[in-house]
Amino acid sequence: MNAPLEPLGPGLYIVATPIGNLGDLSPRAADILARADLVAVEDSRVTAGLLRHIGVRRPMTPYHDHNAEGVRPGLVARMATQAVALVSDAGTPLISDPGYKLVRDARAAGHAVVTVPGPCAAVAALTLAGLPTDRFLFVGFLPSKAQARATAIAELAPIRATLVLYESGPRLAACLDALAKDLGDRDASVAREITKRFEEAVSGTLSELAARYADAPPRGEIVIVVAPPGEPEAASEADADAALVEALTRLPASKAAGEVAKALGLDRRALYARALELKA
Ligand code: SAM
Repeated sequence: MNAPLEPLGPGLYIVATPIGNLGDLSPRAADILARADLVAVEDSRVTAGLLRHIGVRRPMTPYHDHNAEGVRPGLVARMATQAVALVSDAGTPLISDPGYKLVRDARAAGHAVVTVPGPCAAVAALTLAGLPTDRFLFVGFLPSKAQARATAIAELAPIRATLVLYESGPRLAACLDALAKDLGDRDASVAREITKRFEEAVSGTLSELAARYADAPPRGEIVIVVAPPGEPEAASEADADAALVEALTRLPASKAAGEVAKALGLDRRALYARALELKA
């Protein structure tokens, strides 16, 4: 018979689980799950499969969007004396998944909160895309209705960062099409079934990808990664002169130079000198 496992300290344990390949469950995640007093789960059938894979049985309790408000206080109370692990069906809890309010309330109650990091589809897709990773914005799922989606995309358009979005197969082409229209035809990547048998990452411009998937919605789980907007073209001397001439009809030279410098991203002092020349 195996020796009983050391009990875990009480508190909340945020445990990341695989997004497809069960080999990605970390030894530490397996250890925490095996020793937790209770595992809060999105879907007990999914987590039961994972627990079977590591050969353990633990009590599970549902924690998902539809019951979270009701069950959260009880879960937080249990953290005073028990180790409560939080998992989602796949990947990192709290990332387009429930959990942040549980962490908030656990912290507010003074309980220990421990994270066990691991797979996350957004980060995995970024590593596959071959697009800049120095600055990225996790967008999650866009609204499904066209008007709300267009509003959300308009907000994203000026952001100088790579964008990471979750999407479903049936909606992929329409989403790529809307992104191409409202962001411009940027480079992008569609990552599908990451860590699974049919994993692929397809690169192209947004419109190329929209056309590719228009007639053949892909199966499986999908992340879209979109390149940041290109650098704005530097204003030419002629542009600066035209803007200065116009501004000088309304403003004194120093204010005209200030306005044009701000609008075109040019040096204010150089523009002031040029404004004096133009006036003369
Ligand atoms: N918490 C998860 C994480 O850390 O990635 C995300 C949960 S969210 C409800 C599920 C979405 O994540 C899917 O619809 C898909 O967009 C993306 N996703 C999850 N697993 C994936 C995989 N293996 N390949 C591609 N995308 C995946």
